[in-house]
Amino acid sequence: MLEAVERKLGRKLVIVQGSFLAGKAAKRSGPTHNRAGVVDIRTKDQNAAQQAQTLVELRKVSFAAFHRTTKQGFADHIHAVAIGDPGLDPSAARQVEAYRNGKNGLKDGGPLDGPRVKITVFPLTMPTGGVVPVGGRPVVHLVTVQLQFRAGGTKVLPDVKTIQLALNARIKTSLAVDGRAGKFTREAYKKHQKAIGSAPKFIDGIPGPKDLANLGRGRFRVI
Ligand SMILES: [Zn+2]
Repeated sequence: MLEAVERKLGRKLVIVQGSFLAGKAAKRSGPTHNRAGVVDIRTKDQNAAQQAQTLVELRKVSFAAFHRTTKQGFADHIHAVAIGDPGLDPSAARQVEAYRNGKNGLKDGGPLDGPRVKITVFPLTMPTGGVVPVGGRPVVHLVTVQLQFRAGGTKVLPDVKTIQLALNARIKTSLAVDGRAGKFTREAYKKHQKAIGSAPKFIDGIPGPKDLANLGRGRFRVI
């Protein structure tokens, strides 16, 4: 994704902080850089016009990109989260959610800076071999995930990862995105069913057509 942006810009970007930092990131970053898909880009080597251009191109290639400033208490940089990366830390997934809602992804819930672009998902090749379609949303197969939730997560499924990511963003859990519909995932799913006001008989921790479609809003398609 970064290479695509650099090609567009015709210049190189300097990464000042990458991914998989597991607690070793700058304090101000919180846990957002702990897992996959998050980079910080140097801005002091770019003039204001170039910074604005970088922000737009990052967004166009489907990063949730935010210009972090000294005013906000940061060393000036651009913080970018790969939309649709299945390995994001839940805190970074929440920033994608904020970005989709036109927010800056910070605690203050302020508005997103700079121009809005059409939100897409880059065709990332996932470790599981699955592929997120260009410009589309991942697909979750209802019957398949129902079987796995009932079986207690005997298999690793990309569809379950998609659900875990959505649960982390929606009900602020921090499930491991491991593709297994184990106890914690089922409990979190139950919370989701409760939160959306499902009838008691449907609060069972097993995805149903309505609660799954609700969870998928803006994130995945149910088939
Ligand atoms: Zn960052």
